[in-house]
Amino acid sequence: MKYRFVFWISTLAIVLAWQTPAVAQDLKKGFKQLAKANYAQAHQIFESILRQDACQPLANYGLALMYSGQTSTGFDRWRAFEYIQNVPDRLVAADREILQKYTPHWEQVPPIRALIYDSLYAYWHAQVLAQDRTELYEHFLEACANTRWAPVVASAYHQRVFTEVCALDEPNAYEWFIQSFPEAEPVIQAKQERYRWAYAEACLSNKLSAYQDFVRQYPDAPQVAEAMERIALKQKYNKAFLLGKTYPAAHPLFVRVRAEHTPKAEMYMHREAYEAFSRMYEAALRDGVKLSIISGMRTFEQQAMIWNYKWSKLKGDGISRAQNIMVYSSMPGISRHHWGTDVDLNHLTNSYFDKGEGKKVYDWLLRHAREFGFYQVFDGHERAYAEERWHWSYMPVADVCLQEYLSEISYDDLRGFVGEELAPQLRVIERYVKGEGLRTE
Ligand SMILES: [Zn+2]
Repeated sequence: MKYRFVFWISTLAIVLAWQTPAVAQDLKKGFKQLAKANYAQAHQIFESILRQDACQPLANYGLALMYSGQTSTGFDRWRAFEYIQNVPDRLVAADREILQKYTPHWEQVPPIRALIYDSLYAYWHAQVLAQDRTELYEHFLEACANTRWAPVVASAYHQRVFTEVCALDEPNAYEWFIQSFPEAEPVIQAKQERYRWAYAEACLSNKLSAYQDFVRQYPDAPQVAEAMERIALKQKYNKAFLLGKTYPAAHPLFVRVRAEHTPKAEMYMHREAYEAFSRMYEAALRDGVKLSIISGMRTFEQQAMIWNYKWSKLKGDGISRAQNIMVYSSMPGISRHHWGTDVDLNHLTNSYFDKGEGKKVYDWLLRHAREFGFYQVFDGHERAYAEERWHWSYMPVADVCLQEYLSEISYDDLRGFVGEELAPQLRVIERYVKGEGLRTE
């Protein structure tokens, strides 16, 4: 029993001892053929070894060398890549002995491996660049993140993705790009596009808060300077100003009208409008026409007093009372007189301007007022009010106030007088302030 066991062990040892030198012999033959550039034979020998043991390191190495591009024939980078993966970086002593004898220049596995990988990446990256497809870039970058080819491919990848983002041309797409690829070269351009969009949106809403948000969110944007100007303008012509809820005697934008220009005891105008009026007054005087301001800046409170008084004198339902008042007087909060840019001159009836002194004044104004920036804004066509030959508006400032008014003021701001609830129903902002859909000529 004991002897039989020893016999089997000995037989096994002999078989192993016999087989190992046989593989070694084949490997030596294979490398010898390879050294002689007999590729077909080398291939056959190595492949036959791999059929017995697919992981045999030296047979794999031999084939990897053969296909690695180190030889003039049999170059196949993909096969070289497949074979080299079965070769450990450090070979055992017996393997090294074989290599040293037959392949003196290729005894180091890592450089050969690097060579094969590099050849593969070079080819692959060229293919990826040529095809210029997002998913191919992504695949390459995932597999080859640490290779010398990665930066080149990453750059092309970013450019491709950015081209797609530009085709979408949406603020979210630019934002996504900036967040996803903060180091990418096109980020500089993406930021500019995002600024452009954000600023366009702020301009579209044209609200003070929108410009303030823009400046806060994008302090580096080139549009910040312009946004700051808009903010300054909106702070200058704020809601209180636009609604006449100011105290002109103590407000920096208003100046008191001098006695020679008005029969009233105390009157105020917008500083710029008054400067222009003063020049117009002098010019008119030289032509023998005396202009006289009957009404200048009116506060919300003053307008509300006029409104409430007229309301109390009228009969009928709210709508008809309001409409009646608004033939010549405005609702509180929607008067251009709140801005101090508009004046009522000489007389408050149209017929006064038909003949005599009145006609002389009106003809002069029609001919010359525009030279000083003044226009008759209530001509009976442009806004829902009837014609007012006495009401003249200093447009350089009034137009700015009007634009600010239309973007900042809503019906929620028109409160504090009798019939305030009718303002939205009568669409006073659209019809009386903006003058929508009235031009009938
Ligand atoms: Zn007026």
